[in-house]
Amino acid sequence: MLQQTRVETGIPKWHAFLDKFPHVESLAAASEDDVLKAWEGLGYYRRARLLHKAAQEVALQGQFPKSASEWQALPGVGSYTSAAIASIAQDEPVAAVDGNVQRVISRVFGVFEPVDASSGAKQIQEWANRWLDRKHPGDHNQAVMELGATVCSPQKPSCHACPVSAQCQAAHDPKMWSALPAKTPKKAPVPWAMTLHFAMHGSHWVVVQRPARGVWAKLWLLPESSPTSPEFVRLDDIIPPVRHVLTHRTIEAKVVGWQAPSEKALHTWAKEIEGRVIEWSETEHLAFPRMLTKVFPDIQRSVGA
Ligand code: SF4
Repeated sequence: MLQQTRVETGIPKWHAFLDKFPHVESLAAASEDDVLKAWEGLGYYRRARLLHKAAQEVALQGQFPKSASEWQALPGVGSYTSAAIASIAQDEPVAAVDGNVQRVISRVFGVFEPVDASSGAKQIQEWANRWLDRKHPGDHNQAVMELGATVCSPQKPSCHACPVSAQCQAAHDPKMWSALPAKTPKKAPVPWAMTLHFAMHGSHWVVVQRPARGVWAKLWLLPESSPTSPEFVRLDDIIPPVRHVLTHRTIEAKVVGWQAPSEKALHTWAKEIEGRVIEWSETEHLAFPRMLTKVFPDIQRSVGA
């Protein structure tokens, strides 16, 4: 939950999620729409879908996995998550490597290979395995994560207060701090211009579900195609253009309004595009991208809903 979200925002979401799905069985039995709704606003929706699938797998097996390699067999569980769970909850001696740990290890052992490339990641993992306190793997992993989060910060690490400064190759060396962890250069986000169509009649309007793969998979959005019937009246851009930044894309979206001649015509068009006619109250139960929920109040004001 915290990958793209600040802790203060994540905490209420976490509690609400656990209130809704208190056991692995209740999460497993939930509909995908319900899980996505509970995840709304947290980004990386693929994680919610994988968590849901993993819960179904655990419920099917009737027990939680017992080792890091068994955890890794679950959908969406990679080397970091499996090692963190197995070491902290089950005392297995496996090193958990997240972004904070990568920073600490690359500096302590002087690893200059980019940590986001496979050979660099492999080197970091090997050093982490060698460094691990095998008698207290959970404590060790949490201590290194915490060191990275609090002492060994990206810009200005507090080497004077660091318990491993005597063995660290980057201690008190600002040039090493800025060079490590090394990363491959980032690609600039790709611009994405989209036009969304808000077609309505009375309190009813049309939404479509995104495909199962790609950006916003399975979330609900306004249609990107316009109504085909000439009886729909175009209302032009009902709100100012929306700018939204995703990890690899910068979106500039226009929202065009359409007045349908009747509710029946709205349903006919919705059927044509495999969409759905809803009312505002139904937005409570469907998951939408943040780009859209943040302008819902503007759209409502503009169309007088
Ligand atoms: S000595 Fe400095 S650079 Fe090295 S791990 Fe500690 S805080 Fe980080």
